[in-house]
Amino acid sequence: MRPDVLNPLFAEVETLPGVGPQVAKLLKRLDITRVVDLLYHLPTGVIERVRAKAAHNSLLGSNVILDVIPMGTREPRSGRGPMRVFASDADGNTISLIYFNNPGWAKKSLPIGEKKTVAGKLEAYGGEWQIIHPEVLPPAQGAELSIREPVYPLTEGLTSKRVRELAAAALERTPDLLEWVEPSLATREAWRTWRAAIAEAHRDPGTEDSRRRLAYDEIFANQLALVLLRQASRRKLGVPLPGTGELIGKLKLPYSLTGAQRRVVEEIRGDMAQSAPMLRLLQGDVGSGKTLVALMAMLTAIESGAQAALLAPTEILARQHHATLLKELDSIGVRVAILTGREKGKARESVLMGLADGSIDILVGTHAIFQEKVAYRSLGLAVIDEQHRFGVSQRLLLASKAERPPHLLVMTATPIPRTLTLTQYGEMDVSRIDEMPPGRTPVETRVISDERLSDVIDGLGRHVSSGGQAYWVCPLVEESEKSDAAAAEERARVLRQRLGDEKVGLVHGRMKGPEKDAVMGRFAAGDLAALVATTVIEVGVDVPNSTLMIVEGAERFGLAQLHQLRGRVGRGSGKSTCLLVRGQNLSETGRARLALMRETSDGFRIAEEDLRLRGPGEILGTRQSGDVAFRVATPEDVAELAPVAQSDAQLLLDRDGGLSGPRGQAARICLYLFERDQAVGLIRSG
Ligand code: ADP
Ligand code: MG
Repeated sequence: MRPDVLNPLFAEVETLPGVGPQVAKLLKRLDITRVVDLLYHLPTGVIERVRAKAAHNSLLGSNVILDVIPMGTREPRSGRGPMRVFASDADGNTISLIYFNNPGWAKKSLPIGEKKTVAGKLEAYGGEWQIIHPEVLPPAQGAELSIREPVYPLTEGLTSKRVRELAAAALERTPDLLEWVEPSLATREAWRTWRAAIAEAHRDPGTEDSRRRLAYDEIFANQLALVLLRQASRRKLGVPLPGTGELIGKLKLPYSLTGAQRRVVEEIRGDMAQSAPMLRLLQGDVGSGKTLVALMAMLTAIESGAQAALLAPTEILARQHHATLLKELDSIGVRVAILTGREKGKARESVLMGLADGSIDILVGTHAIFQEKVAYRSLGLAVIDEQHRFGVSQRLLLASKAERPPHLLVMTATPIPRTLTLTQYGEMDVSRIDEMPPGRTPVETRVISDERLSDVIDGLGRHVSSGGQAYWVCPLVEESEKSDAAAAEERARVLRQRLGDEKVGLVHGRMKGPEKDAVMGRFAAGDLAALVATTVIEVGVDVPNSTLMIVEGAERFGLAQLHQLRGRVGRGSGKSTCLLVRGQNLSETGRARLALMRETSDGFRIAEEDLRLRGPGEILGTRQSGDVAFRVATPEDVAELAPVAQSDAQLLLDRDGGLSGPRGQAARICLYLFERDQAVGLIRSG
């Protein structure tokens, strides 16, 4: 239950004076539905205004406050073009006040002959003075206009003035909250109270201290939730799985482990030998060999008499993992099964039985493997090949369900910047594979304009006729799976004309699982020369013979995504190429981003850059789930403040009595303010 003191803040915006359905709809476009959202809709800067008697050259480009008298209007012609109101200032200059929408409003607010105060940027155009979309006030109110005015992010139809008023109304409703910041920290940073900081951030966005405090609050709520999660996950004992080395000894690998693989396997086995359940994040760039590490961990579990589960993000990947494991493990007597949404009827029944009686050692699958009805005889280890889809809330669920929680290994293919690791996986220990398997030749990356698409297709033709295989990734078309699929089908049609019908396969999100698998299978077996695909995930597979990656509309992908895609080639020892085909109207940033791809294959550098350019939600794919969506905190804040917040959260639990101690009440309010309710729920149930 949310603390009562927060109720006014979580009330809907419609409860504010003057907010009807119309305004509410506009606010929703800015993601503002509740009073608290308005509080956190902070101005991004201030404009400085000049009070002027009349227009003057020296004022050009300035924001002026000016008294004028409207003299006439020019209506938009045939519904197009702006509405103009011609007004006269104290010196008799004519100033045209221009409105691109809502001509009725402009006419009503600026009646001819009635003195008004207008505020806006003074410009000269075609020898005339003009102000576009000025604010209009009666002179009495105009006299009160402040010289420094906060500027809010807006949407069409909502004026800055309106948002300012709404923010003021929201502030009026805002109570003082108990202080959750640790007193010595608050003193050291000279932070104001939460309420004072919010008020100041609206009034004067330039004040860094207030903004930083607000950033800290968010990060603290996040870190506290993760520390609580860790505590709850570890409160229940797991089963120690020290392993015997017997199965691992029997494994016949065509190569030896890299030093990095060896090291992380040791870290993992060290954790698994303990009775406190492992919570470990395995980071390794694409192609660094995480699957093998997962295999070692799973064998360790089985050696100790437990079962292991491997969760893949997609059907295709699940099947690929299943095939790989079967190949390696069948000969040493380890029994591997697969369960996805597609196993139905008898097949599903037999898997469920095998899990329950222990005749299955490893279960590979998609989310189906952690469903309610799936009962393991002794699940000792859960491996999550994440590809950024298994968020905090899902981990919470997994931890809270089991009587004796399994050891948990989360593998991420994206090299996540350190700053994000803490906020997204703060409850976990981290292992890194920082070395690639030997014998890889770096992928050559080239950026090509789509004007040269036919050259690209020629190149593909040559590649294929010399026996090579290639991926062709089609651009993401907005959000719609339907148009993605259509674009990919069209591309496949063109390539088939060129390479022959039987040489080109197509996978997209609208196809059924078995269809996709069949195509993937033929590509992996070398029967298809080119694979056209729509999304990153469809090609998240390992086909070492495929050494050419073509990405169309490359500028529409995130850098981390491009890096993932490129990682699909360069897996064998042959030379590989990645062609990034770009559109023609590329922004400066767009160019810079693609240039970076050409310049480096360092996944961490690319991820840092992506974070800087696109924000954390995009990288982690958590926009929807809202796991790491900070409203105030920037990546820099996170880098600086997350470690502080983490130790503060730890302090709260270790020294200050946790959520039920004296500071606990405030901390609880903070958790609820940022909607980390689940963390609180977990504490209750634990
Ligand atoms: P990722 O970390 O992206 O999941 P994979 O586990 O798919 O990477 O491994 C990429 C490729 O490298 C696979 O073809 C795998 O067989 C190979 N590989 C893994 N470890 C080694 C190693 N130590 N030496 C040589 N090749 C390896
Ligand atoms: Mg992998």
